[in-house]
Amino acid sequence: MKVKSMTNPDREYEIIKRRDGTYYCSCLSFKYGTKECKHIKNVKKLDELRQDRRVILDNLVEIYNGFLLDALDYNEYEILITKEHENLKRINKRIELLKNNIIQEE
Ligand SMILES: [Zn+2]
Repeated sequence: MKVKSMTNPDREYEIIKRRDGTYYCSCLSFKYGTKECKHIKNVKKLDELRQDRRVILDNLVEIYNGFLLDALDYNEYEILITKEHENLKRINKRIELLKNNIIQEE
């Protein structure tokens, strides 16, 4: 995966996810730093947000099914569906922001 430098947009770094789940980044902060660089942090955050979005989508399917099977009345359905759609909107916005730093995903 290639990411943009946050201080110099002309510069890009390569991030690789290793088989053991750890990450490598080609930036200097990763090479000489003791902590994770901000690029890896962002990529991890993106993974986390996508996982959260999957949960929200599963919830929406469950709510739709509950309504279709008459397990939920319309008011209940509307409250639940509105809440999950707001969550979805919020999480999509955060995903879009993080994706702006990524040039190319593999
Ligand atoms: Zn980095």
